[in-house]
Amino acid sequence: MRIIGMLSQQKALVFGILTGVLIAWWYFNPFAWLGIAMGAVAGLMVYLILKTGRIERFRRPYFVILFAVISLSLLGMVMFWGPDQFMKWVDRFNPGYYFPRSGGLGTISYPHPIVLPSIFWGGADFLAQFKTWQTSVPQNMAASFLFMLPYAVILLLFGRAFCGWLCPVGGLPEVMSSGRKEVLQLGLFKGKKAMDGSYYYTGLKPWVNIVRYVILLITLLVFLVSGFAVVNIFYPVLWLQSMNAFWIIIAITVVFAVALPLLTKRRWWCFVCPLGTALSFIDRVTPFRLKIDRDKCVRCMDCVHACRMYAMTPQEVEKGREKTGHCIKCGRCIEACSEEAIDIYWMEGRRKIREPFIALIIATGLMLYIWYIIQFISLLSRMGDFRWLA
Ligand code: SF4
Ligand code: SF4
Ligand code: SF4
Repeated sequence: MRIIGMLSQQKALVFGILTGVLIAWWYFNPFAWLGIAMGAVAGLMVYLILKTGRIERFRRPYFVILFAVISLSLLGMVMFWGPDQFMKWVDRFNPGYYFPRSGGLGTISYPHPIVLPSIFWGGADFLAQFKTWQTSVPQNMAASFLFMLPYAVILLLFGRAFCGWLCPVGGLPEVMSSGRKEVLQLGLFKGKKAMDGSYYYTGLKPWVNIVRYVILLITLLVFLVSGFAVVNIFYPVLWLQSMNAFWIIIAITVVFAVALPLLTKRRWWCFVCPLGTALSFIDRVTPFRLKIDRDKCVRCMDCVHACRMYAMTPQEVEKGREKTGHCIKCGRCIEACSEEAIDIYWMEGRRKIREPFIALIIATGLMLYIWYIIQFISLLSRMGDFRWLA
């Protein structure tokens, strides 16, 4: 037992160092000091998560800070350029991008996730984008696939863990679902089971999942018929194109990303999001699986109470694995289980791979969002130049 303890501490150290070195290298150009600082933060976080086993305790602030940095860097750029200049660019370039068949110019004027993979090849050149905002986007299908390749790899590798660790849009419902007190139960949407004198929720009702699939299907159909990537409704610049679209998006956001998460302590936005539903399918082929060691499990259902995604249910506990497709690998149930019966495994096998999972997903987040993180730091040093603040 002692040897196992020592080994896991050594693993924590090794994966912490590996992550720290990788992130230090990634951020070293253009600022060496930033590389050292980011490497130290990443390495320490991986080490602490693995050493203490408190995945959710560290994941949550990391996820929320990432969301805040990305949002503030975008907002800061609008403030830096001023709204008039900003809208001029939006009017000129974005319609062509959003509606590909309307004859786009092949450029966009604002950092959009689709252009971020250029960082992988462009190195520090991406900093120049701060001056112009002009970023090339793929001109043909082959180039588009190449640009999207890193995203495809990330989604295939992590599946719905993307929602727990990497998606900035999930940050708002995550913040809103903070705290413990559930004011609203929403029993209409959830199955219920009586056990040992208590009630347990048995996940979302089948019809709720059908609604999710219908939303995904409509999204795909609109994309195929019009060429409009509906996932861009999450992109705030689009909201400014039309006041009607703006108010509809605000209403959906208030209901699903603010009110329901606040009242129920669940990320309802992420139950209606078509990308999240698509990731539920992809989750079936990802290598990282959440499983329960049934020999250790004492059926206390603490993990069922802890789960904020209705992913852990009494049925999943009985089966010994999570297969609802809602699990975002947040680690809350792992922390809640006093028997240490839950872990992350390699596919359907018996090999536990918590360490590489944590190291990989933290490194991926910090590598993927380097553009926003550096812009955020740059903007902090230019606060005095903000037009809205002047
Ligand atoms: S469900 Fe959608 S919005 Fe929520 S975290 Fe996943 S991809 Fe992001
Ligand atoms: S918290 Fe652990 S012991 Fe309790 S039901 Fe869940 S897996 Fe089993
Ligand atoms: S099953 Fe566990 S890891 Fe998955 S979402 Fe629920 S609490 Fe998080």
